[in-house]
Amino acid sequence: MSSIAERLEKIRTTIPSGVRLLAISKYYPVDAVREAYDAGQRDFGENKAQDLVFKQQSLPEDIRWHFTGHLQSNKIKYIAPFVYMIHSVDSLQLLREINKHAAKNGRIIPCLLQIHIAREDSKFGFTPDECLSMLSTEEWKELKNIHIRGLMCMASNTDDVQQVASEFAAVRALFDDIRERWFADDDLFDTLSAGMSGDYLIAVGAGSTCVRIGSSIFEE
Ligand SMILES: *Cc1c(COP(=O)(O)O)cnc(C)c1O
Repeated sequence: MSSIAERLEKIRTTIPSGVRLLAISKYYPVDAVREAYDAGQRDFGENKAQDLVFKQQSLPEDIRWHFTGHLQSNKIKYIAPFVYMIHSVDSLQLLREINKHAAKNGRIIPCLLQIHIAREDSKFGFTPDECLSMLSTEEWKELKNIHIRGLMCMASNTDDVQQVASEFAAVRALFDDIRERWFADDDLFDTLSAGMSGDYLIAVGAGSTCVRIGSSIFEE
């Protein structure tokens, strides 16, 4: 038997110091989040707006709450007052909506563009080409209450390590390309959110700066 604290500690030893560990608590109760918090964890992620709001209200104020699921426009208003970063922006329209609610709250909300790279077609996100053409319009530059901080991706759900490694490498290359073309003067374009319980070491090897881990922390 191991505890959440022990598993967290073990995972931390495998992650380089510059990489942020995000605990994805979407399937786990407030008590489990509390246990991770007591073990020093401060970054947590949820996939549903109502769960993010409920947990934020139930837990200490110094937690950084990340949103990692598919975000519907009509849910933005619930999370806009406090969300630390939105990892799953998949359209310019959504970016505009987030901007609107961020402005109402007097905030600038950090956002990541989600890149669809996996073979599965059920996943959300921009294809690399869609992402480049969205950025090329430069309309996003008018949006003063969002801050594009990087990219997020999920690799294919497969045991084929080569496949997963090449997907993460492709997104890292896209990240570097985008940074050079549009964010060369922005030191805060610094986040590549990639890697989950089953593949985070591969992601870190490919240049991820933020891993999102759920089951390996919260499950035995
Ligand atoms: C659930 C989820 C994770 C964590 O997955 P685990 O395999 O439990 O580590 C990471 N990112 C996103 C977007 C998720 O939905």
